[in-house]
Amino acid sequence: SNAGDLLKVEGLTAGYGAAPVLHEVTLSVGAGRIVAVLGANGAGKTTLLRTLSGLLPLAAGRVMFDGLDLRGVKVEKMVRHGIAHVPEGRGVVTELTVDENLRLGGLWRKPREPLDEIYDLFPALAQRKNHLGHQLSGGERQMLAIGRALAAKPRLLLLDEPSLGLAPKITSQIMGLLRDLRDRTGLAVLLVEQNVRSALSIADEGIVLNLGRIAAREKADKLADDADLRHAYLGF
Ligand code: ATP
Repeated sequence: SNAGDLLKVEGLTAGYGAAPVLHEVTLSVGAGRIVAVLGANGAGKTTLLRTLSGLLPLAAGRVMFDGLDLRGVKVEKMVRHGIAHVPEGRGVVTELTVDENLRLGGLWRKPREPLDEIYDLFPALAQRKNHLGHQLSGGERQMLAIGRALAAKPRLLLLDEPSLGLAPKITSQIMGLLRDLRDRTGLAVLLVEQNVRSALSIADEGIVLNLGRIAAREKADKLADDADLRHAYLGF
């Protein structure tokens, strides 16, 4: 952790009821960094993103974003501050069109991102502006979910399992897109993934969660090469 970190999480304990899921989690994400959050089913990855996006309260610890204490900040305020969350299962409104979904994403943020930029990023969506969410393929829905988050012009994207249910080719397309976006705009990404290889292919660093605690934090290439760690926590 250093002074330049955009997101700083210190001693975060959180969960759904009396028994916490996350225990004293400390991590940081610098501007323009992609940090992968890895770990087995039930390790607490989704819970971490839900807590950082304001959906779940902190039981203990501190979350600072660009010098601002996020305790008690509500979801819509998070978006205004520059934090956008793409939830697991994507959260596209299937009864609305592509264009309407993207407009929803920009509602809480001023100045609003012109949607043209989003359509430039995702040409497949531009061709389907007036299609309903439920008419899209899985990959298109994931792109729409990411596009909707980007419409809020975030500085930090909290991205939960973008590869879920997608063909490998579509997954690598989405990963490449995230890397380009980071390179071009300085977007920071906290990326939860079961697909460890895909995540580490674009991440700068990887964090391994085990039973709600940080088990390891390494540079992505080092983590990918660390067979003991992979066997212990990542199942390959
Ligand atoms: P997965 O990849 O399976 O989503 P994960 O690492 O994202 O795993 P979480 O979904 O954060 O893990 O779950 C962590 C723990 O929190 C699990 O023990 C789970 O049963 C519990 N949990 C998840 N959602 C809830 C909920 N809504 N209420 C109570 N407990 C929950």
